[in-house]
Amino acid sequence: MRTFTDKRLLVATHNAGKLSEMRALLAPYGVDVVGAADLGLSEPVETEDSFVGNARIKARAALEATGLPVLADDSGICVDALGGAPGVYTADWAETGQGRDFGVAMERTWAELEAVAAPLPRRAQFRCTLVLMWPDGHEEVFEGVLPGEVVWPPRGAEGHGYDPIFAPDGHSQTLGEMEPSLKNSLSHRALAVAKMIEAVFA
Ligand code: IMP
Repeated sequence: MRTFTDKRLLVATHNAGKLSEMRALLAPYGVDVVGAADLGLSEPVETEDSFVGNARIKARAALEATGLPVLADDSGICVDALGGAPGVYTADWAETGQGRDFGVAMERTWAELEAVAAPLPRRAQFRCTLVLMWPDGHEEVFEGVLPGEVVWPPRGAEGHGYDPIFAPDGHSQTLGEMEPSLKNSLSHRALAVAKMIEAVFA
């Protein structure tokens, strides 16, 4: 495992929330975090069929554009009774032709579970894969997995995406009902980031 000793890290995301979370988490290690939008980078098309493959596409594109070390992530929800779907297509299930609607994506998830008469509980995991890539192309990969259950109807107005239909193991609340600070302490992304910090930055 290679230790991170650079002073700057480019986080290959256009999501302001992810960027500020990463900046706060890495501040104690003296790392200056820069966002893809700050450098005017475009978003590459995600053509792979795995989280690590798509995270690698984002990392490579940002590295080739800047020469900086890069952190990229890809995430989604994998439902057991749907053979792991929507998985890498998590965001695609929300596409309507007029932008993304996660109400549509949650309806589809439940409808597909009903169509296969999946028994309760309807097990699923949120997964997050991080790829940390150095300018010489060396990479380290970290994964966070949050297991739980898909519930219906959706509950809660916090969070984003599929949060209202997912209750993590050990919690009766959905991610959509949780205080953001609680969700952010137990999420798939938090787990992956904790592994990365322990292995590479601490
Ligand atoms: P990306 O990793 O930003 O490409 O996210 C993929 C999709 O997964 C997003 O559009 C979200 O809908 C979904 N997703 C990822 N993480 C979460 C989460 O913590 N809660 C709800 N949905 C999520």
